Amino acid sequence: MQIIRTAREIISFVEESRKQGKVIGFVPTMGALHEGHLDLVRQSMTETHLTICSIFVNPTQFNESTDFDKYPRTLDADVEELTQVSCDVVFCPSVDEVYPTPDKTIYNLGDVSNVLEGEMRPGHFNGMASVVKRLFELTLPHRAYFGLKDFQQCLVVKELVRNYNLPVEIITCPTVREPSGLAMSSRNKLLSEQGKETALQIFRTLQTLNEQWKDVEIEDLQKVGSFMLSLENGIDLEYIEVRDSKTLAPYDEKSHNAPVVLIAARVEGVRLIDNMILQK
Ligand code: AMP
Repeated sequence: MQIIRTAREIISFVEESRKQGKVIGFVPTMGALHEGHLDLVRQSMTETHLTICSIFVNPTQFNESTDFDKYPRTLDADVEELTQVSCDVVFCPSVDEVYPTPDKTIYNLGDVSNVLEGEMRPGHFNGMASVVKRLFELTLPHRAYFGLKDFQQCLVVKELVRNYNLPVEIITCPTVREPSGLAMSSRNKLLSEQGKETALQIFRTLQTLNEQWKDVEIEDLQKVGSFMLSLENGIDLEYIEVRDSKTLAPYDEKSHNAPVVLIAARVEGVRLIDNMILQK
């Protein structure tokens, strides 16, 4: 596996690969890799000729500096994991390589960016859009792979691509879970064993709502979910919402789109998100 750290090097590498007619797949990550990330890499490898995985903890998408400081960084282990799955290239640039000058653009990311995470984490999606656009410019991928674990992020990235005519296809991949059901997340590394046990209530709540939703009014569904989460000591709920899975507007039974339940909560001070599309 090739390790590339500079903008100049990655640009000349992808230019050469494109000249050779290679289809490039790109998996952007912030590292502390787990099976969720590796699944995206594997999918890219089956669908493209060349897979680039980036590892970059993007300062502009953190709205709390302590969250940025605490974010797990495990570059050596990540390189080892990517080598094991035969990823072609890891791109791990410094902040200066990604942002030679600060990007002050306010991106047009549509209504899907203004609710939920957009409300709770001001500036988060703008920072995410800034780094994703910049990384696309550097890696020139034909396809880019994102996990549905970050459901709203997938919608916002698609909006970014549409609004700025970026020549890349966005592929979304299912959430990978621990055998217990806990959604894999780099932030789980910051939880104790007890914390992981507590966090499982988020998955149990999603499962219960998935079983009950056809028999219960939507407002009541949210109440059932909040109640279930309040039963577990140590979960500090930020939101639980049932939304339209295409627009993120409050779910309306007349909509043709499936409902999605989205949850954000803190456990041991660690902010976790999860979601589930309710099955018909
Ligand atoms: P992150 O490193 O957290 O920024 O995530 C990088 C990419 O991996 C994003 O597209 C995430 O949605 C995706 N991802 C993170 N956790 C999971 C998971 N448990 N299952 C599937 N994809 C994931």
